[in-house]
Amino acid sequence: MRVCWLVSKDRSCQRIKLPHLEMVVIGRGPETKITDKKCSRRQVQLKADCNKGYVKVKQIGVNPTSIDLEDIGKDQEIKLKPGQILHIVNKLYPYTVQFLDEMGSCAGVEEVKPKGGKRPCDESENNVESMPGKPAKFGQMDPQGSSSSYKQNDSNSSTSLCQNPSRKKECLTHWSQGLKVSMKDPNMQIYKDERAVVIKDMYPKARYHWLVLPWESISSLKAVTQQHIELLEHMHAVGEQIIQQCPEKDTLPFRLGYHAIPSLSHLHLHVISQDFDSPWFVTKRHWNSFTTEYFVDSQDVIEMVKKKGRVIVDVSISQLLKLPLKCHVCKQLLPTVPKLKEHLGKHWPK
Ligand code: AMP
Ligand code: ZN
Repeated sequence: MRVCWLVSKDRSCQRIKLPHLEMVVIGRGPETKITDKKCSRRQVQLKADCNKGYVKVKQIGVNPTSIDLEDIGKDQEIKLKPGQILHIVNKLYPYTVQFLDEMGSCAGVEEVKPKGGKRPCDESENNVESMPGKPAKFGQMDPQGSSSSYKQNDSNSSTSLCQNPSRKKECLTHWSQGLKVSMKDPNMQIYKDERAVVIKDMYPKARYHWLVLPWESISSLKAVTQQHIELLEHMHAVGEQIIQQCPEKDTLPFRLGYHAIPSLSHLHLHVISQDFDSPWFVTKRHWNSFTTEYFVDSQDVIEMVKKKGRVIVDVSISQLLKLPLKCHVCKQLLPTVPKLKEHLGKHWPK
């Protein structure tokens, strides 16, 4: 028997169980830890259908509840599927749903790509254009997002997906190999040549977010040597070429770079627009991984390999992920991710 869980994307509270075909009402209160007065105590009514794999969501409160940034409307009902993002009120307090079997095994955990919202050309994270609503498999979950905690042995965590110890290793292996699966999937590829392939990031952190991967098996920056310089230059050139095909290339700045410590196996170059306007951008870690020196510019990587023969990463680099939230454009400090997102809207209005 499958069990449905409502999981906070920002991990601010415990997951909430949604029993099969039972009405559950949530809103402002201790369960969600929402204190925002704009959120009614009875904001949303949820009814999970574990057989069909979706949750019917009805907005009861006055202020808008949304799914993938589409407002539901007062007293209206929309189906929420795994992978879509439910914002409880005013595009804040993101949640997703997960269907797990009762033993907590990975079977049946699926993500679908979000639709709607403003992520035009690729929805970068999810190929919405090319395969709308097509489910992705468990191994494709965002390692930096809330689902990352299934790496930890924390069965109470709101996002602990693999509670069955015998399956933990298997799940972890599968997850870390996600890019290797995606890069070979013709539905994910938006460009390929003899040396590299480009896919949309499955959980884009901005309006446009692609990954350039070499066909050659290179596990990460650590494995890069001087013999890879031409390949790195080629990957950079491919990234630049992809940006040229973006309809907003003249108004949005882009960066090309690598995470100093990647989450996923197989070398990948991020090509990401600097609006950070995405429902998948939800945590401080996301922000700092793309806006501090944790994100190493592609050109700097190439220069370093040319000069030093390899990529040297400071041992304390992960401390950068804990820095306070600072706007990358005007340097203003913001207290929370929702406030930062609101602030970013001023730099890049929709
Ligand atoms: P990192 O390893 O931290 O440099 O980032 C890995 C990137 O891959 C993140 O931006 C994720 O959103 C993205 N991602 C995770 N799983 C997949 C997948 N299966 N296919 C495509 N992109 C993915
Ligand atoms: Zn700013």
